[in-house]
Amino acid sequence: MTWEPDKPHEECGVFGIYDFDGNDVASTIYYGLFALQHRGQESCGIAVSDTKGPRKVDLLKGMGLVNEVFDQNNISSLKGNIGVGHCRYSTAGDSIPGNAQPLVLNYVKGTLMLAHNGNLINANELREELAYTGAIFQTTIDSEVIAYLIARERIKTKTAEQAVVNAMKKLKGAYALVVSSPRKLIGARDPYGFKPLCIGKRDNAYILASETCALDTIGAEFVRDVEPGEVVTIDEKGIRSDKSMCLKPDEQARCVFEYIYFSRPDTYIDGVNVYDSRIMAGKFLAMDSPVDADIVVGVPESGNAAAMGYAMQSGIPYGTAFVKNSYVGRTFIKPQQKSRESSVRVKLNVLKEVVKGKRVIMIDDSIVRGTTSDRIVQMVRDAGATEVHMRISSPPFISECYFGTDIPSKDQLIANHRTIDEIRDVIGCDSLGYLKVERLEELSGGQAICKGCFTGEYPLEPPTEDIRGVYQK
Ligand code: SF4
Repeated sequence: MTWEPDKPHEECGVFGIYDFDGNDVASTIYYGLFALQHRGQESCGIAVSDTKGPRKVDLLKGMGLVNEVFDQNNISSLKGNIGVGHCRYSTAGDSIPGNAQPLVLNYVKGTLMLAHNGNLINANELREELAYTGAIFQTTIDSEVIAYLIARERIKTKTAEQAVVNAMKKLKGAYALVVSSPRKLIGARDPYGFKPLCIGKRDNAYILASETCALDTIGAEFVRDVEPGEVVTIDEKGIRSDKSMCLKPDEQARCVFEYIYFSRPDTYIDGVNVYDSRIMAGKFLAMDSPVDADIVVGVPESGNAAAMGYAMQSGIPYGTAFVKNSYVGRTFIKPQQKSRESSVRVKLNVLKEVVKGKRVIMIDDSIVRGTTSDRIVQMVRDAGATEVHMRISSPPFISECYFGTDIPSKDQLIANHRTIDEIRDVIGCDSLGYLKVERLEELSGGQAICKGCFTGEYPLEPPTEDIRGVYQK
């Protein structure tokens, strides 16, 4: 069994690079994926090709973390100056090696390498349509539907980028795409901009990545974000842009949970620093849910910045109450129900001297099912806290996500069937406060967001049936 904290998962991280000087890019993709590992830990892969050589692709992918799948030997066997990388957590499609990305497609116009982050809500219909006209699918992921659509459009269009634009006209849902045709690197973001994608530059190479933290890791400078709906094409002529699929700014819908939890705090999304957003969320909590206390602490890691914000706004001192064991990975053996070891205690321990005899405000980023918060509250009480006040830097989850985030169905969400007072009693804290929905827009610097899982209202009509994991049937 694996360690399963009560948190949603992001689906994927994508990365692409084109080095005009002809240098091999596989090791740079490796480090880029390493920086994006928090976005997906089930499988990963790298595909590279040589823009001047024969149209051959070197591909390696497998189950596991980036540093488990790749080593010095296999990385140096991947030859080519253009390439695509991917790390994955599955929300649609099984967690099996065949579903790992990047996908590589050979077709009449050459070879296509593709990495995708997000979920399509019409993948089912598109898949059926393609299957009836002869497509034979190798995987159970919706990314393959996108690859097929692009390949089919490419036969009818003059350029690979026009094929991507034409394919986008048929796609509904969330996608950040990195595509490599033999001599072009193409990046695309869905018109709503659910998922982030940015452009970087290092020497004579251009990079596309899910988050700016990957650019920092490889020593690249940030050039700009890919805009929601934009298709960027990178080749030896430079960067070109197609904005024919862009919506008006107020129709866009960035996933606000990228700011609250998914993205790394050192990342900037559409010009807004994620750490600053989390500080702001903490400040809002202090304004909207104040309480007298002696110390503010965060549940590591993503609760820490919001706790700092709460402390700054309230004047109550910030403290560190938890020591986290960072080595709890995918293969961690979950303790048996009856055993004395608790999964939560294996991962977190309380610094007794910090909380003993104190009224504690504890900030966490979210509560999904409510399966671990009670144990964390109890641990703080056991360590001697006289009061424990819980504050959550997101609103209550009341609805599922169809756009690539693993937020489960309504019946599993504690806030869907309980009031805040009832949740407080289940968790066993003295008081409980959530971020107000009206505050969410400010976390993205006022840019339009999706907040469907907090309101039940989605920017796109949700499918009538739960499409998540549909290909597993
Ligand atoms: S429903 Fe929630 S998790 Fe899904 S894209 Fe919208 S804000 Fe993000």
